[in-house]
Amino acid sequence: MVQAHIPMSKFLPSIGTRRGSFPSWPLIGAYALAVFTLTVACILLTRSANRLPPLWLPGAVITYCLLRTSRRNWPLALVVGGLAEALGHLAVGDKMPFAFLPAFDLLEAVIIAVPMRLLHLERDFVRPRSLLTFYAAGGLLAPITCGFLAAFFLNMTTGSEFLVNGFVFVGAKALAEALLTPLLMTVRWRALRDMFSRSQIVGTLLYLSIFVAIIVLEEVFVTYPFAFFFFPAAVLLTFQRGFAGGAIGTTIGGVYLLIPVLLGQGGGGFKEHTVAAQIEIVQAFAVVIGFSVLLVGAALDRRRNLERGLAEAHEAALVARDAAETASRAKSMFLANMSHELRTPLNAVIGFSELMHSELYGPLGNQRYRDYAGQIHEAGRHLLDLIGDILDMSKIEAGKYELVWEEVAIDVLAGDCMELMRDRAAKAGLTLASDFDGYQVVPADRRALKQILLNLLSNAVKFTEPGGGVTVRSEVGNGRLLLSVSDTGVGIPPEELARLGNPFVQLRSTAAVSQQGTGLGLALVRGLVEMHDGTMRIESEDGKGTTVSVEIPLRQGPARLAA
Ligand code: ADP
Repeated sequence: MVQAHIPMSKFLPSIGTRRGSFPSWPLIGAYALAVFTLTVACILLTRSANRLPPLWLPGAVITYCLLRTSRRNWPLALVVGGLAEALGHLAVGDKMPFAFLPAFDLLEAVIIAVPMRLLHLERDFVRPRSLLTFYAAGGLLAPITCGFLAAFFLNMTTGSEFLVNGFVFVGAKALAEALLTPLLMTVRWRALRDMFSRSQIVGTLLYLSIFVAIIVLEEVFVTYPFAFFFFPAAVLLTFQRGFAGGAIGTTIGGVYLLIPVLLGQGGGGFKEHTVAAQIEIVQAFAVVIGFSVLLVGAALDRRRNLERGLAEAHEAALVARDAAETASRAKSMFLANMSHELRTPLNAVIGFSELMHSELYGPLGNQRYRDYAGQIHEAGRHLLDLIGDILDMSKIEAGKYELVWEEVAIDVLAGDCMELMRDRAAKAGLTLASDFDGYQVVPADRRALKQILLNLLSNAVKFTEPGGGVTVRSEVGNGRLLLSVSDTGVGIPPEELARLGNPFVQLRSTAAVSQQGTGLGLALVRGLVEMHDGTMRIESEDGKGTTVSVEIPLRQGPARLAA
């Protein structure tokens, strides 16, 4: 057997290949620049708003970096991030103890990244388990620990107020982690690019024009808070363009509201608030939109994954079905060939044993030999019947059984079958009765109908104890032929009924009374009935008796008869 070797990396998410790419110099440069710029921007924002908790964004970028790069690169990521942030502090003229504050951001990133990476949650960030762990670590544990440690450090070095600083730091870190890290983890550059690809650009511009409309309304009707409409607009953009769309929507809303605040003009309806309060509102607004975008995006992502899984399962089921059909066809072909090959020598065994038994060419000399020849003949006939059943079954399964349509006088045929069984029924101490509704001719395959009736009759006789009775009914009308064989035998337990009709199924419950059999009788009946487009039904009461009925639609007409 040939086995294809598929490398394991094929099954890993694409992030597996990205991790290794961190140490390239342009990436390190971009990372350092992002941390430095955000540090400077956040400090200036804090100052312009006169000390309030802004989003402390550089920490979130360091966290993102640890989540994305391999653990081998963590020391480098921490050193570069820490240095870039310290330089940012120095660049805006912070004094020495403040330049040590980045150490607490590094600790924050490690506290978040370690559990996420240990549990491999960063690979699929939008799973509920990943999001919950991230918000527990990034929204609570890390900011509280590092925020108060930083406040304690400042209190020790500069004597500033511990509690006030502590709460400010915790809020700033938690808000930034809650907003920026999930955004960075979920938005793919490719998705951003695709939004403006030829197939999507018209739709994207249409959705973005909603933002323009909101901004125009906000500028024209200054006293009405049209900015609230950024919220549904961002959710809509997420629906249509995924996380990338949601991120753009959130950014447009946040930046639009923030710029006038920073320019000292105030935006829209909240002009009357202090600048500090306005920035707080914008931040809260951005966090709420960002979080909603994340949830909507996660739900969509989940649905897409489910759909993909479903499609893959469907595909696999089709492949499996094809394989099963091929195997079944091969089995049927094998059985058909084997049965054919067995029949030829068996006919010789049957024919010659019969000749010997009848002593046609002279006496055998010993009574025992005569008996043996008789038994060989009996056994040969039984084997031939069995092989015939197997051959028929495999032909039906392989779709090779061909019906010969002719007009069949059903009462004559049923009567013949009963005659054939009369001897066996008498030996078993059973009475045979019939209930036919007169002479009726139906289009059917005579051999198949005969086999159906004989199989049902032989089961009824086999599974009915002495003193019981077997009744054959036939009814033609309403466009169908109804044949049934009822007995007063051992019956079938209800839980076993459903199993019957499949090849080689024999019930344990009736094994004691069954002298012989292969479990092919009912399967053959069902197969032959279905070839006539009919149905087979088994009704039985445990210990009381069984009725097996078959219903065959009567589709008359030359086309059907010629088929
Ligand atoms: P076989 O008779 O060769 O075992 P069948 O397919 O004809 O195989 O029947 C399958 C099983 O269904 C039998 O072994 C028996 O357990 C049960 N069965 C069929 N017909 C009857 C009946 N009339 N009464 C009770 N059990 C029956």
